[in-house]
Amino acid sequence: MTLRIHNTLTRTREDFVPLDAANVRMYVCGPTVYDFAHIGNARPAIVFDVLFRLLRHIYGEAHVTYVRNITDVDDKINARALRDHPGVPLNDAIRRVTETTYRQYQKDVTALGCLPPTAQPRATEHIAGMTEMISTLIKRGHAYEAGGEVLFDVGSMPDYGRLSQRRLEEQQAGARIAVDAHKRNPGDFVLWKQSTAEEPGWDSPWGRGRPGWHIECSVMSKAHLGEVFDIHGGGLDLIFPHHENEIAQSRCAHGTKVMANYWMHNGFLQVEGQKMSKSLGNFTTIADVLAEWPGEVARFNMLRTHYRQPIDWTAASLEDSRKTLRTWKQAVAGIAAAPPDAEFVAALSDDLNTHAAFTRLHALAKAGDAAALKGSLLLAGLDLDVADLGDAEAVAVDEAVVTNMIAARLEARRARNFAESDRIRDGLLAMGIQIKDVKDPATGELKTEWEVRR
Ligand code: AMP
Ligand code: ZN
Repeated sequence: MTLRIHNTLTRTREDFVPLDAANVRMYVCGPTVYDFAHIGNARPAIVFDVLFRLLRHIYGEAHVTYVRNITDVDDKINARALRDHPGVPLNDAIRRVTETTYRQYQKDVTALGCLPPTAQPRATEHIAGMTEMISTLIKRGHAYEAGGEVLFDVGSMPDYGRLSQRRLEEQQAGARIAVDAHKRNPGDFVLWKQSTAEEPGWDSPWGRGRPGWHIECSVMSKAHLGEVFDIHGGGLDLIFPHHENEIAQSRCAHGTKVMANYWMHNGFLQVEGQKMSKSLGNFTTIADVLAEWPGEVARFNMLRTHYRQPIDWTAASLEDSRKTLRTWKQAVAGIAAAPPDAEFVAALSDDLNTHAAFTRLHALAKAGDAAALKGSLLLAGLDLDVADLGDAEAVAVDEAVVTNMIAARLEARRARNFAESDRIRDGLLAMGIQIKDVKDPATGELKTEWEVRR
Protein backbone atom coordinates (compact mmCIF):
# COMPACT_ATOMS: atom_id res chain seq x y z
CA MET A 1 0.00 0.00 0.00
CA THR A 2 1.50 3.32 -1.01
CA LEU A 3 0.74 6.32 1.11
CA ARG A 4 0.31 9.47 -0.97
CA ILE A 5 0.56 12.95 0.45
CA HIS A 6 -0.20 16.36 -1.01
CA ASN A 7 3.06 18.20 -0.42
CA THR A 8 2.76 21.98 -0.07
CA LEU A 9 6.44 22.27 -1.08
CA THR A 10 5.67 21.00 -4.61
CA ARG A 11 1.90 21.57 -4.71
CA THR A 12 1.54 17.97 -5.91
CA ARG A 13 0.49 14.62 -4.52
CA GLU A 14 3.56 12.48 -3.98
CA ASP A 15 4.33 8.92 -2.92
CA PHE A 16 5.46 8.98 0.67
CA VAL A 17 8.94 7.56 1.10
CA PRO A 18 10.20 7.85 4.70
CA LEU A 19 13.84 8.64 5.40
CA ASP A 20 13.88 5.65 7.75
CA ALA A 21 10.95 3.21 7.74
CA ALA A 22 12.01 2.09 11.22
CA ASN A 23 11.42 5.62 12.53
CA VAL A 24 8.93 7.74 10.58
CA ARG A 25 9.08 11.28 11.98
CA MET A 26 6.37 13.93 12.03
CA TYR A 27 6.21 17.38 13.61
CA VAL A 28 3.03 19.42 13.98
CA CYS A 29 2.88 22.96 15.36
CA GLY A 30 0.89 22.84 18.57
CA PRO A 31 -1.06 25.42 20.54
CA THR A 32 0.13 28.69 21.98
CA VAL A 33 -1.16 28.21 25.49
CA TYR A 34 -2.63 31.58 26.41
CA ASP A 35 -6.34 30.90 26.05
CA PHE A 36 -8.79 28.05 25.55
CA ALA A 37 -8.50 26.47 22.12
CA HIS A 38 -11.38 26.88 19.68
CA ILE A 39 -12.82 24.11 17.54
CA GLY A 40 -10.81 25.39 14.53
CA ASN A 41 -7.62 24.71 16.50
CA ALA A 42 -8.87 21.16 16.97
CA ARG A 43 -8.75 20.51 13.24
CA PRO A 44 -4.96 20.03 12.93
CA ALA A 45 -4.98 17.98 16.17
CA ILE A 46 -7.60 15.58 14.73
CA VAL A 47 -6.31 15.48 11.15
CA PHE A 48 -2.72 14.72 12.14
CA ASP A 49 -3.91 12.24 14.76
CA VAL A 50 -5.52 10.28 11.91
CA LEU A 51 -2.26 10.45 9.97
CA PHE A 52 -0.35 9.33 13.09
CA ARG A 53 -2.68 6.33 13.44
CA LEU A 54 -2.40 5.50 9.74
CA LEU A 55 1.41 5.69 9.86
CA ARG A 56 1.42 3.39 12.88
CA HIS A 57 -0.85 1.00 11.01
CA ILE A 58 1.47 0.98 7.98
CA TYR A 59 4.90 1.10 9.65
CA GLY A 60 4.14 -0.37 13.08
CA GLU A 61 3.38 1.37 16.37
CA ALA A 62 6.97 1.41 17.52
CA HIS A 63 8.19 2.98 14.29
CA VAL A 64 6.50 6.37 14.25
CA THR A 65 7.55 9.45 16.23
CA TYR A 66 5.02 12.26 16.39
CA VAL A 67 6.02 15.53 18.04
CA ARG A 68 3.54 18.30 18.76
CA ASN A 69 5.01 21.26 20.60
CA ILE A 70 3.57 23.57 23.19
CA THR A 71 4.35 27.24 22.67
CA ASP A 72 4.63 28.59 26.19
CA VAL A 73 6.75 31.64 25.36
CA ASP A 74 4.74 34.32 23.60
CA ASP A 75 3.84 37.93 24.20
CA LYS A 76 0.13 37.04 24.22
CA ILE A 77 0.84 34.80 27.20
CA ASN A 78 2.57 37.65 29.03
CA ALA A 79 -0.34 39.98 28.37
CA ARG A 80 -2.82 37.39 29.62
CA ALA A 81 -0.75 36.75 32.75
CA LEU A 82 -0.68 40.45 33.61
CA ARG A 83 -4.43 40.77 33.00
CA ASP A 84 -5.58 37.66 34.85
CA HIS A 85 -3.13 37.59 37.76
CA PRO A 86 -2.35 41.17 38.75
CA GLY A 87 0.02 41.50 41.67
CA VAL A 88 1.43 37.99 41.18
CA PRO A 89 5.13 37.82 40.19
CA LEU A 90 5.16 37.58 36.38
CA ASN A 91 6.88 34.19 36.15
CA ASP A 92 4.31 32.64 38.48
CA ALA A 93 1.45 34.34 36.68
CA ILE A 94 2.75 33.04 33.36
CA ARG A 95 3.03 29.53 34.70
CA ARG A 96 -0.55 29.70 35.93
CA VAL A 97 -1.79 30.78 32.51
CA THR A 98 0.19 28.17 30.58
CA GLU A 99 -0.56 25.31 32.98
CA THR A 100 -4.32 25.92 33.05
CA THR A 101 -4.49 26.34 29.29
CA TYR A 102 -2.27 23.35 28.63
CA ARG A 103 -4.29 21.06 30.90
CA GLN A 104 -7.54 22.15 29.26
CA TYR A 105 -6.05 21.51 25.80
CA GLN A 106 -4.99 17.99 26.79
CA LYS A 107 -8.46 17.30 28.12
CA ASP A 108 -10.09 18.69 24.99
CA VAL A 109 -8.06 16.76 22.42
CA THR A 110 -8.29 13.55 24.45
CA ALA A 111 -12.08 13.86 24.39
CA LEU A 112 -11.79 14.30 20.63
CA GLY A 113 -10.11 10.89 20.39
CA CYS A 114 -6.56 12.12 19.78
CA LEU A 115 -3.73 9.90 20.97
CA PRO A 116 -1.00 11.62 22.96
CA PRO A 117 1.86 12.44 20.59
CA THR A 118 5.15 10.66 21.24
CA ALA A 119 6.54 13.90 22.68
CA GLN A 120 5.12 17.32 23.55
CA PRO A 121 8.10 19.58 24.14
CA ARG A 122 7.64 23.05 25.60
CA ALA A 123 9.49 26.08 24.34
CA THR A 124 10.61 27.00 27.86
CA GLU A 125 12.51 23.70 28.06
CA HIS A 126 14.51 24.50 24.94
CA ILE A 127 15.82 28.03 25.43
CA ALA A 128 19.47 26.87 25.47
CA GLY A 129 18.97 25.14 22.12
CA MET A 130 17.52 28.36 20.76
CA THR A 131 20.41 30.59 21.78
CA GLU A 132 22.76 27.96 20.34
CA MET A 133 20.96 27.86 16.98
CA ILE A 134 20.83 31.66 16.84
CA SER A 135 24.60 31.82 17.50
CA THR A 136 25.15 29.38 14.64
CA LEU A 137 23.01 31.50 12.32
CA ILE A 138 25.03 34.62 13.22
CA LYS A 139 28.30 32.73 12.71
CA ARG A 140 27.18 31.51 9.30
CA GLY A 141 26.17 35.00 8.19
CA HIS A 142 22.40 34.45 8.24
CA ALA A 143 21.55 36.62 11.25
CA TYR A 144 22.60 39.94 12.75
CA GLU A 145 22.04 42.09 15.83
CA ALA A 146 20.24 45.39 15.40
CA GLY A 147 18.01 47.61 17.50
CA GLY A 148 18.02 45.30 20.52
CA GLU A 149 17.04 42.29 18.44
CA VAL A 150 18.68 39.44 16.60
CA LEU A 151 17.17 39.19 13.14
CA PHE A 152 17.27 36.60 10.44
CA ASP A 153 18.61 38.04 7.19
CA VAL A 154 16.23 36.73 4.52
CA GLY A 155 18.50 38.15 1.84
CA SER A 156 21.16 35.64 2.88
CA MET A 157 19.08 32.68 1.68
CA PRO A 158 18.74 32.46 -2.10
CA ASP A 159 15.56 30.37 -2.11
CA TYR A 160 13.79 31.98 0.82
CA GLY A 161 10.06 31.90 0.04
CA ARG A 162 10.01 28.54 -1.72
CA LEU A 163 7.29 27.00 0.47
CA SER A 164 4.88 29.92 0.21
CA GLN A 165 5.99 30.63 -3.37
CA ARG A 166 6.55 34.29 -2.62
CA ARG A 167 9.41 36.16 -4.16
CA LEU A 168 11.41 38.40 -1.88
CA GLU A 169 10.58 41.51 -3.93
CA GLU A 170 6.86 40.87 -3.58
CA GLN A 171 7.16 40.49 0.17
CA GLN A 172 9.01 43.73 0.46
CA ALA A 173 6.61 45.81 -1.56
CA GLY A 174 4.07 46.24 1.21
CA ALA A 175 6.40 46.31 4.18
CA ARG A 176 6.41 49.19 6.61
CA ILE A 177 9.85 50.59 5.94
CA ALA A 178 9.75 53.33 8.56
CA VAL A 179 8.98 50.97 11.45
CA ASP A 180 11.60 48.50 10.30
CA ALA A 181 14.45 50.96 9.78
CA HIS A 182 16.90 48.74 11.68
CA LYS A 183 16.29 45.81 9.33
CA ARG A 184 18.45 44.98 6.33
CA ASN A 185 15.38 43.68 4.48
CA PRO A 186 11.81 44.46 5.45
CA GLY A 187 11.14 40.69 5.54
CA ASP A 188 13.80 40.00 8.19
CA PHE A 189 12.24 38.42 11.24
CA VAL A 190 13.03 38.26 14.93
CA LEU A 191 15.05 35.40 16.37
CA TRP A 192 15.66 37.02 19.76
CA LYS A 193 14.47 40.20 21.38
CA GLN A 194 15.54 41.91 24.55
CA SER A 195 13.21 41.92 27.53
CA THR A 196 12.62 44.75 29.95
CA ALA A 197 12.99 43.94 33.64
CA GLU A 198 9.22 43.38 33.81
CA GLU A 199 9.12 40.97 30.88
CA PRO A 200 10.05 37.30 31.05
CA GLY A 201 13.57 36.71 29.85
CA TRP A 202 16.59 34.46 29.76
CA ASP A 203 20.27 35.38 29.70
CA SER A 204 21.90 35.21 26.31
CA PRO A 205 24.94 36.54 24.44
CA TRP A 206 22.60 39.39 23.31
CA GLY A 207 21.41 40.34 26.76
CA ARG A 208 18.44 39.17 28.77
CA GLY A 209 15.65 38.43 26.35
CA ARG A 210 13.26 35.95 24.81
CA PRO A 211 13.02 34.01 21.57
CA GLY A 212 10.79 34.74 18.59
CA TRP A 213 8.06 32.24 17.78
CA HIS A 214 9.59 30.63 14.69
CA ILE A 215 12.90 29.64 16.28
CA GLU A 216 11.02 27.60 18.89
CA CYS A 217 9.80 25.05 16.35
CA SER A 218 13.15 24.81 14.53
CA VAL A 219 14.86 23.93 17.80
CA MET A 220 12.22 21.57 19.20
CA SER A 221 11.92 19.61 15.95
CA LYS A 222 15.70 19.31 15.70
CA ALA A 223 15.95 18.13 19.33
CA HIS A 224 13.35 15.38 18.88
CA LEU A 225 13.47 14.49 15.19
CA GLY A 226 16.88 15.57 13.90
CA GLU A 227 17.98 18.12 11.30
CA VAL A 228 15.84 16.59 8.52
CA PHE A 229 12.65 14.63 9.09
CA ASP A 230 9.67 13.34 7.13
CA ILE A 231 6.47 15.29 7.67
CA HIS A 232 5.75 18.77 9.00
CA GLY A 233 2.15 19.84 9.49
CA GLY A 234 -0.15 22.61 10.63
CA GLY A 235 -2.96 24.85 9.44
CA LEU A 236 -2.87 26.78 6.15
CA ASP A 237 -2.27 30.05 7.98
CA LEU A 238 1.10 28.78 9.15
CA ILE A 239 2.63 28.45 5.65
CA PHE A 240 3.68 32.08 5.76
CA PRO A 241 5.45 33.37 7.68
CA HIS A 242 5.79 30.65 10.33
CA HIS A 243 6.75 27.60 8.29
CA GLU A 244 8.71 29.60 5.74
CA ASN A 245 10.78 30.98 8.59
CA GLU A 246 11.18 27.63 10.32
CA ILE A 247 12.61 26.31 7.05
CA ALA A 248 14.95 29.28 6.67
CA GLN A 249 16.34 28.91 10.20
CA SER A 250 16.73 25.14 10.15
CA ARG A 251 18.23 24.86 6.69
CA CYS A 252 20.64 27.73 7.19
CA ALA A 253 21.72 26.53 10.63
CA HIS A 254 22.25 22.92 9.52
CA GLY A 255 23.29 23.47 5.91
CA THR A 256 20.60 21.09 4.64
CA LYS A 257 18.54 21.15 1.44
CA VAL A 258 15.25 20.66 3.25
CA MET A 259 13.93 20.77 6.80
CA ALA A 260 11.16 18.20 6.22
CA ASN A 261 10.40 16.32 3.01
CA TYR A 262 6.60 16.64 3.13
CA TRP A 263 4.67 19.72 4.26
CA MET A 264 0.98 19.24 4.95
CA HIS A 265 -1.57 21.94 5.72
CA ASN A 266 -5.16 21.63 6.80
CA GLY A 267 -7.82 24.01 5.50
CA PHE A 268 -9.81 26.34 7.72
CA LEU A 269 -12.79 25.57 9.80
CA GLN A 270 -15.27 28.31 9.02
CA VAL A 271 -18.36 29.92 10.43
CA GLU A 272 -20.67 31.31 7.80
CA GLY A 273 -17.87 31.32 5.27
CA GLN A 274 -15.32 33.04 7.52
CA LYS A 275 -12.28 31.48 9.17
CA MET A 276 -12.96 30.79 12.83
CA SER A 277 -10.46 32.85 14.80
CA LYS A 278 -9.90 34.52 18.12
CA SER A 279 -9.41 37.90 16.52
CA LEU A 280 -12.70 37.80 14.59
CA GLY A 281 -14.50 36.73 17.76
CA ASN A 282 -16.54 34.13 15.83
CA PHE A 283 -15.21 31.19 17.78
CA THR A 284 -16.63 28.34 19.82
CA THR A 285 -14.23 26.73 22.26
CA ILE A 286 -13.67 22.98 22.08
CA ALA A 287 -15.09 22.76 25.60
CA ASP A 288 -18.31 24.49 24.44
CA VAL A 289 -18.66 22.00 21.58
CA LEU A 290 -18.03 19.06 23.92
CA ALA A 291 -20.66 20.31 26.34
CA GLU A 292 -23.24 19.79 23.61
CA TRP A 293 -21.87 17.01 21.46
CA PRO A 294 -20.08 13.74 22.16
CA GLY A 295 -16.37 13.90 21.28
CA GLU A 296 -16.80 11.11 18.71
CA VAL A 297 -19.47 13.14 16.91
CA ALA A 298 -17.26 16.24 16.78
CA ARG A 299 -14.32 14.15 15.57
CA PHE A 300 -16.32 12.36 12.89
CA ASN A 301 -17.91 15.63 11.79
CA MET A 302 -14.44 17.15 11.40
CA LEU A 303 -13.21 14.20 9.35
CA ARG A 304 -16.14 13.94 6.96
CA THR A 305 -14.63 16.82 4.99
CA HIS A 306 -11.25 16.30 3.34
CA TYR A 307 -8.59 17.97 5.45
CA ARG A 308 -7.48 20.42 2.76
CA GLN A 309 -10.99 21.70 2.08
CA PRO A 310 -12.64 24.42 4.12
CA ILE A 311 -15.27 23.07 6.48
CA ASP A 312 -18.38 24.85 7.64
CA TRP A 313 -19.15 24.02 11.24
CA THR A 314 -22.91 23.76 11.68
CA ALA A 315 -25.30 22.09 14.11
CA ALA A 316 -27.08 20.46 11.16
CA SER A 317 -23.98 18.61 10.02
CA LEU A 318 -23.19 17.62 13.63
CA GLU A 319 -26.68 16.17 13.95
CA ASP A 320 -26.18 14.32 10.70
CA SER A 321 -22.87 12.96 11.99
CA ARG A 322 -24.53 11.77 15.18
CA LYS A 323 -27.15 9.88 13.16
CA THR A 324 -24.54 8.02 11.14
CA LEU A 325 -22.53 7.13 14.23
CA ARG A 326 -25.65 5.80 15.94
CA THR A 327 -26.30 3.42 13.07
CA TRP A 328 -22.70 2.25 13.09
CA LYS A 329 -22.62 1.94 16.87
CA GLN A 330 -25.62 -0.37 16.66
CA ALA A 331 -24.00 -2.39 13.92
CA VAL A 332 -20.71 -2.97 15.77
CA ALA A 333 -22.04 -3.49 19.31
CA GLY A 334 -20.77 -6.74 20.78
CA ILE A 335 -18.75 -7.53 17.67
CA ALA A 336 -15.05 -8.36 17.81
CA ALA A 337 -13.08 -6.04 15.54
CA ALA A 338 -11.44 -7.48 12.44
CA PRO A 339 -8.43 -5.75 10.84
CA PRO A 340 -9.38 -2.50 9.09
CA ASP A 341 -10.93 -2.93 5.65
CA ALA A 342 -8.36 -2.75 2.82
CA GLU A 343 -10.39 -0.30 0.72
CA PHE A 344 -10.86 1.91 3.76
CA VAL A 345 -7.11 1.95 4.39
CA ALA A 346 -6.48 2.62 0.70
CA ALA A 347 -8.79 5.64 0.80
CA LEU A 348 -7.05 7.03 3.87
CA SER A 349 -3.69 6.41 2.23
CA ASP A 350 -4.76 8.56 -0.70
CA ASP A 351 -3.85 11.87 0.96
CA LEU A 352 -6.20 11.13 3.86
CA ASN A 353 -9.32 10.87 1.75
CA THR A 354 -11.57 10.49 4.78
CA HIS A 355 -14.64 11.27 2.70
CA ALA A 356 -14.08 8.24 0.45
CA ALA A 357 -13.06 6.19 3.47
CA PHE A 358 -16.37 6.85 5.22
CA THR A 359 -18.31 6.14 2.03
CA ARG A 360 -16.67 2.72 2.17
CA LEU A 361 -17.83 2.32 5.79
CA HIS A 362 -21.43 2.93 4.72
CA ALA A 363 -21.00 0.11 2.21
CA LEU A 364 -19.54 -2.20 4.88
CA ALA A 365 -22.47 -1.45 7.18
CA LYS A 366 -24.94 -2.16 4.39
CA ALA A 367 -23.20 -5.44 3.58
CA GLY A 368 -23.36 -6.45 7.23
CA ASP A 369 -19.60 -6.63 7.61
CA ALA A 370 -19.66 -5.34 11.16
CA ALA A 371 -16.25 -6.76 12.13
CA ALA A 372 -14.40 -4.87 9.38
CA LEU A 373 -16.53 -1.81 10.05
CA LYS A 374 -15.48 -1.89 13.68
CA GLY A 375 -11.79 -2.38 12.91
CA SER A 376 -11.88 0.48 10.41
CA LEU A 377 -13.64 2.83 12.83
CA LEU A 378 -11.00 2.05 15.44
CA LEU A 379 -8.24 2.93 12.99
CA ALA A 380 -9.92 6.31 12.50
CA GLY A 381 -9.93 6.78 16.29
CA LEU A 382 -13.68 6.22 16.62
CA ASP A 383 -14.34 3.79 19.45
CA LEU A 384 -18.13 3.60 19.35
CA ASP A 385 -18.36 1.06 22.18
CA VAL A 386 -17.44 3.78 24.62
CA ALA A 387 -19.26 6.61 22.84
CA ASP A 388 -22.37 7.92 24.54
CA LEU A 389 -24.38 9.17 21.59
CA GLY A 390 -27.47 9.94 23.66
CA ASP A 391 -31.14 9.07 22.99
CA ALA A 392 -30.49 5.36 22.45
CA GLU A 393 -34.23 4.57 22.49
CA ALA A 394 -34.88 6.99 19.72
CA VAL A 395 -32.60 5.10 17.37
CA ALA A 396 -34.60 3.60 14.57
CA VAL A 397 -33.42 0.33 13.14
CA ASP A 398 -32.06 0.90 9.67
CA GLU A 399 -34.10 -1.60 7.67
CA ALA A 400 -31.77 -1.52 4.70
CA VAL A 401 -28.84 -2.50 6.95
CA VAL A 402 -30.82 -5.38 8.47
CA THR A 403 -32.06 -6.65 5.10
CA ASN A 404 -28.54 -6.60 3.73
CA MET A 405 -27.12 -8.39 6.75
CA ILE A 406 -29.81 -11.06 6.45
CA ALA A 407 -29.09 -11.54 2.76
CA ALA A 408 -25.36 -11.80 3.50
CA ARG A 409 -26.07 -14.39 6.20
CA LEU A 410 -28.21 -16.54 3.89
CA GLU A 411 -25.52 -16.27 1.26
CA ALA A 412 -22.95 -17.52 3.78
CA ARG A 413 -25.22 -20.39 4.81
CA ARG A 414 -25.72 -21.42 1.22
CA ALA A 415 -21.95 -21.45 0.82
CA ARG A 416 -21.82 -23.55 4.03
CA ASN A 417 -19.67 -20.85 5.64
CA PHE A 418 -21.28 -21.25 9.05
CA ALA A 419 -18.66 -19.29 10.94
CA GLU A 420 -19.58 -16.27 8.81
CA SER A 421 -23.34 -16.81 9.06
CA ASP A 422 -23.08 -17.14 12.86
CA ARG A 423 -20.99 -14.00 13.03
CA ILE A 424 -23.64 -12.04 11.16
CA ARG A 425 -26.40 -13.52 13.33
CA ASP A 426 -24.52 -12.41 16.45
CA GLY A 427 -24.18 -8.98 14.94
CA LEU A 428 -27.93 -8.80 14.40
CA LEU A 429 -28.56 -10.02 17.94
CA ALA A 430 -26.27 -7.33 19.28
CA MET A 431 -28.40 -4.79 17.42
CA GLY A 432 -31.45 -6.21 19.22
CA ILE A 433 -32.70 -8.07 16.14
CA GLN A 434 -34.08 -11.58 16.56
CA ILE A 435 -34.17 -13.75 13.48
CA LYS A 436 -36.00 -16.92 12.57
CA ASP A 437 -35.38 -19.06 9.49
CA VAL A 438 -38.51 -20.41 7.86
CA LYS A 439 -39.02 -22.57 4.81
CA ASP A 440 -41.38 -21.21 2.22
CA PRO A 441 -43.96 -24.05 2.05
CA ALA A 442 -44.58 -23.47 -1.65
CA THR A 443 -41.01 -23.22 -2.97
CA GLY A 444 -39.09 -24.90 -0.15
CA GLU A 445 -36.73 -21.93 -0.13
CA LEU A 446 -35.21 -20.66 3.12
CA LYS A 447 -36.34 -17.23 4.27
CA THR A 448 -35.44 -15.21 7.34
CA GLU A 449 -38.01 -13.36 9.39
CA TRP A 450 -36.86 -10.73 11.87
CA GLU A 451 -38.14 -8.54 14.65
CA VAL A 452 -36.71 -5.97 17.03
CA ARG A 453 -36.45 -7.13 20.65
CA ARG A 454 -35.03 -4.80 23.22
P1 AMP B 1 -2.79 29.03 16.82
O1 AMP B 1 -2.99 28.73 18.27
O2 AMP B 1 -3.62 30.15 16.29
O3 AMP B 1 -1.34 29.14 16.45
O4 AMP B 1 -3.35 27.77 16.02
C1 AMP B 1 -3.00 26.44 16.34
C2 AMP B 1 -3.24 25.59 15.13
O5 AMP B 1 -4.62 25.67 14.72
C3 AMP B 1 -2.45 26.00 13.90
O6 AMP B 1 -2.03 24.82 13.21
C4 AMP B 1 -3.44 26.78 13.07
O7 AMP B 1 -3.10 26.75 11.71
C5 AMP B 1 -4.71 26.03 13.34
N1 AMP B 1 -5.93 26.84 13.14
C6 AMP B 1 -6.22 28.04 13.68
N2 AMP B 1 -7.45 28.47 13.29
C7 AMP B 1 -7.95 27.50 12.48
C8 AMP B 1 -9.20 27.33 11.78
N3 AMP B 1 -10.17 28.24 11.83
N4 AMP B 1 -9.36 26.21 11.05
C9 AMP B 1 -8.40 25.26 11.00
N5 AMP B 1 -7.22 25.35 11.62
C10 AMP B 1 -6.99 26.46 12.38
ZN1 ZN C 1 5.79 25.72 14.36
